[in-house]
Amino acid sequence: MRLPFSHPDSVRRAVVQGLVDAISSKEYYEIMKSTKDLWGGAAGDARWAMLVPPAPGDLRIVQAMVNTAAAVARTDEMASPQAAADWLARWGLLPAATEVSETDHRRLIDTRDGLRALTRFNNGLPWDADAVARLNKAAASAPLKVEIGARSTRFEPAFDGVDGALGMLARIVVAARMEAVWRRLKLCRGDDCGLSYYDASARCLRRWCSMERCGNLSKVRAFRRRHRR
Ligand SMILES: [Zn+2]
Repeated sequence: MRLPFSHPDSVRRAVVQGLVDAISSKEYYEIMKSTKDLWGGAAGDARWAMLVPPAPGDLRIVQAMVNTAAAVARTDEMASPQAAADWLARWGLLPAATEVSETDHRRLIDTRDGLRALTRFNNGLPWDADAVARLNKAAASAPLKVEIGARSTRFEPAFDGVDGALGMLARIVVAARMEAVWRRLKLCRGDDCGLSYYDASARCLRRWCSMERCGNLSKVRAFRRRHRR
């Protein structure tokens, strides 16, 4: 099957319609190239990247991290210390070829779980105190230092390595909260989806990553449940 690769929107539509499983690796590579514009540079490294529009600025790094283990992708892009190191390097959070220990890998996974819990909460789902506690513990040894300038104040990670990466992630979350865009980063309510999406709607009431995909599916399922009774 030939897909129209000319524009990211047409690629996204094709993926939304469930055609992505039918394509060859060469076509997949072409899609990746064409989604680079949509997600910018290092992104476009997973199929799910085509399913959801990216959050603005650096917030998309948090979104991408949550999505490394989205149920819909069926793989974990940070499954091993090496895979996690590669992923962080692709997003500019860690110098290439940095070794990640098993302990640091655990902290990264705890961080990702905590960030996912926060995006679930942003979509009106219950607060996961355990996951957020593990996130805070993972970030506790990755402090930020304050640099005060004439007209600006910057927060910079105090350490290198994985601590630096965790510090940068924390900085992104803090900045997003101060700019009131954090609540717009949500986790889809669709069954077997698990994608984090950015809700740019005026009233911030979107519940699914995409209406065409999870929204309609959820409505069909709810309809069937009602009519089985
Ligand atoms: Zn979804």
